[in-house]
Amino acid sequence: QSAPRVVLSARGLGKDFSGFTAVNDVNLDVEHARIHALIGPNGAGKTTVFNLLTKFLQPTRGQITLLDTDITNTKPDRVARMGLVRSFQISAVFPHLSVRENVKVALQRPAGLATQFWLPLSSLDRLDARADELINNLGLSQYRDHRAADLSYGRKRVLEIATTLALDPKVLLLDEPMAGMGQEDVQMVADIIRNVATERAVLMVEHNLSVVADICDHVTVLQRGEILAEGDYAQVSADPRVRTAYMGT
Ligand code: ADP
Repeated sequence: QSAPRVVLSARGLGKDFSGFTAVNDVNLDVEHARIHALIGPNGAGKTTVFNLLTKFLQPTRGQITLLDTDITNTKPDRVARMGLVRSFQISAVFPHLSVRENVKVALQRPAGLATQFWLPLSSLDRLDARADELINNLGLSQYRDHRAADLSYGRKRVLEIATTLALDPKVLLLDEPMAGMGQEDVQMVADIIRNVATERAVLMVEHNLSVVADICDHVTVLQRGEILAEGDYAQVSADPRVRTAYMGT
């Protein structure tokens, strides 16, 4: 296996909201082809960290680096075009379009921008091929012509991930991808995330700890805006501070 390659990092990241410190001194290294979990109790600062990394929020302190470029002062749309994409950012799934049409629409918006443009006819075949490749990779081929509205809840989430992957992100941020799912869908989405992460980094906020244990290579535990522990799941779950603060045991 090749040496770890850090694709997204934060150093001394902090955010104050009118005097209240929501995030403080957070250091993160997200590596290519790894799944990194960000966990912690409600109010720990996970959403704020995601908003800082995508530049939806401007940090009060610290530095963020994406693929060796300092993005601390970069605008969110530019960050997305550089390869850091959060799942819901472009995951406009159109219920009355088919799975394939949804993926094709996403592929026509390569920068994830609101700007619409028409591709030349010559590239439409390539668009079909790329759409089918994505659909196959995500196990949706048998649903290709189904309307998005008719998919199960779990498969809708997978379609959202597919539309996000149309941008070919280098770092994919997933916000509670398993939320509200039954066990069968959880297993399916977990397998898909694992597959997706073979070619990119994944950073995910997830409350389902058995999923974190199962698929995440690295876990960062936040509490009151600061890093409480990190390591693999076995390490953090054995940490007495984590057990007290988070798992309540
Ligand atoms: P988590 O996602 O881990 O539940 P958040 O990042 O949503 O935590 O919130 C962290 C803390 O920051 C909470 O105490 C929350 O109330 C506070 N917070 C988040 N956003 C804002 C905001 N826009 N203004 C003021 N306080 C905020």
